[in-house]
Amino acid sequence: MSDATSHTGDYQERYAASLMNTFGPPKLVLARGEGAHVWDVDGREYVDLLGGIAVNALGHAHPALVRAVSDQLATLGHVSNFFATEPQVTLAERLLGLLGHGDGRVFLTNSGTEAVEAGFKLTRRTGRTHVVVAEGGFHGRTMGALALTSKAAYREPFEPLPGEVTFVPYGDAEALAAAVTDRTAAVLLEPIQGEAGVVVPPPDYLPAARRVADEHGALLWLDEVQTGVGRTGLWFEHLRSGVRPDVVTLAKGLGGGFPIGACIGLGAAGGLLQPGNHGSTFGGNPVASAAALAVLDTVEAEGLLDAALKRGEQLRTGLEGQDGVDRTTGEGLLVGVQLLDDLAPEVVAAAQEAGFIVNATGPSRLRLAPPLVLTEADADAFVAAWPGVHGSARQGRTP
Ligand code: PMP
Repeated sequence: MSDATSHTGDYQERYAASLMNTFGPPKLVLARGEGAHVWDVDGREYVDLLGGIAVNALGHAHPALVRAVSDQLATLGHVSNFFATEPQVTLAERLLGLLGHGDGRVFLTNSGTEAVEAGFKLTRRTGRTHVVVAEGGFHGRTMGALALTSKAAYREPFEPLPGEVTFVPYGDAEALAAAVTDRTAAVLLEPIQGEAGVVVPPPDYLPAARRVADEHGALLWLDEVQTGVGRTGLWFEHLRSGVRPDVVTLAKGLGGGFPIGACIGLGAAGGLLQPGNHGSTFGGNPVASAAALAVLDTVEAEGLLDAALKRGEQLRTGLEGQDGVDRTTGEGLLVGVQLLDDLAPEVVAAAQEAGFIVNATGPSRLRLAPPLVLTEADADAFVAAWPGVHGSARQGRTP
């Protein structure tokens, strides 16, 4: 597939010579997609069980998304942030409505890390600087967001990082309570940790975090960049707990593949950033906003919250008890697969050979975050392929 004569090999060489090596060599060179399927430049077809890492909520080339983006681009493609546009305002209202808050305020960005940067700056406007974050939490790679991200390998090359940040074990309400003080500006948590390997906290964790934040006058900031917009079968994962956060960050699935994120301040937190405090040339771009509105409309129109629950359940039940699977985790179509052995990279390679794109978040942990439009047949096909994929992974394992 990646021999010297294939198109893939050719692009891989050109990639290595022209793109910064921030992510290691690409395994696939993809040319087109439709629904939950993608094709590489050599014409090989794959079931995309990663969905651009929880981004392609509507799958690839969904007609509603294509139409919304083309129509908006043909109507008004960009204005400076001196001006407002209809899609931007409607999107902000829709997000606040879905969150169940009329009195919030939305700042639109182009990515998750920018949404987190806006959130970080917003927390500073409380007059406090201390932030409590969970170990294993991932919040982005720009300097501010990186300061809030725990993984040493990401942080160390760039230290010193800004901020006064305390990391606590995820899911442990007592450790959280011990770390938050009257000097704490915010508690920042993912409702389910995505990059850490789809780690679900105990059900009382978010309510406990809410109580601790309230006791100390700190903000509760939930980063739903990976879990939000239907991924877990709810519009937002925190709705499961009934907890009302002060700040919510979104991106990934929001634009269905179009770059857009949001930092949302609810209640009084919506008023913390004042004129002149923050800005972005592209944030709130009408085409990106129209894309996000098309995603929200289509999730509703096609019943994709329910579909996410059903397909997620199908994948989990299908994989539980199979060769090499210890257990599955997650909600809806954010699925973690804990393996019995450190075979995750080999499984990723074997799955690719068998025509499935999956992702490893650690040596023994896989993540599936497919489009919410994944069909029952495609989910079944992966479950049926598992024994073969796992078997090849075992054989292919290099000692
Ligand atoms: N927060 C969370 C919870 C994420 O999962 C990610 C991306 N994996 C980010 C923030 C950063 O988003 P982006 O890659 O769009 O900058």
